[in-house]
Amino acid sequence: MSSLEKVKKEIEDAEIVFGKKQGVTKLIAVSKTKPMDQIKKVIDKGQVHFGENRVQEALSKWELVKGNRRDLKIHLLGPLQTNKVKKVFSIFDYIHSLDRLSLAEKLSRETQERGYCPKIFVQVNTGKEEQKSGIFPENLNKFINSSRKTYDLDVIGLMCIPPLNEKSEQHFSLLRDLANDNGLKELSMGMSADYKIAIKYDSTFIRVGTAIFGEREK
Ligand SMILES: *Cc1c(COP(=O)(O)O)cnc(C)c1O
Repeated sequence: MSSLEKVKKEIEDAEIVFGKKQGVTKLIAVSKTKPMDQIKKVIDKGQVHFGENRVQEALSKWELVKGNRRDLKIHLLGPLQTNKVKKVFSIFDYIHSLDRLSLAEKLSRETQERGYCPKIFVQVNTGKEEQKSGIFPENLNKFINSSRKTYDLDVIGLMCIPPLNEKSEQHFSLLRDLANDNGLKELSMGMSADYKIAIKYDSTFIRVGTAIFGEREK
């Protein structure tokens, strides 16, 4: 079994164990830092969703491939600088890192110009870590309202990256509650180390890199 197939099997098993509907968990294969020849093997196995952290890297890797394969979905997982918004629209189908109103405004303007918008997750700083981006839980309702009403963005869900030294479980539980409070259906949570727990808490998009592609070089 390839590592992709192993992960897919584990997802199926977790859905059964935790009583979820089969197939609700979508797998994003996080291909950041990995070369296209390695990624192509995963594409050939039928994988559709891919995640990247850096806009420039994603453009150089995916522009050609995606031109021929419109069905592939590319997700931006890393922070987004306001001056890169135009580039983002040309390649990404999903943005997981909306974390400030100045970015919402920029995305909104670009949406009006182009007539379409990537699907958006608001990143939540569930651990309130200073070095991490994301909206603090107590400010989230207001932020989502502005993103939707003032800027008319297609906000579909919430994303979090739990603190390294804490159990993910409490953060996944909090993110699920916050999504419910705001009527949001999608949850972007769970990575190689904790995606099964994320499935327990109703994650709909898990982001798995290492378990599929192997360790990344530092
Ligand atoms: C790199 C990355 C992942 C994948 O992490 P793995 O531990 O390799 O599965 C998921 N989400 C984000 C935001 C990342 O930056």
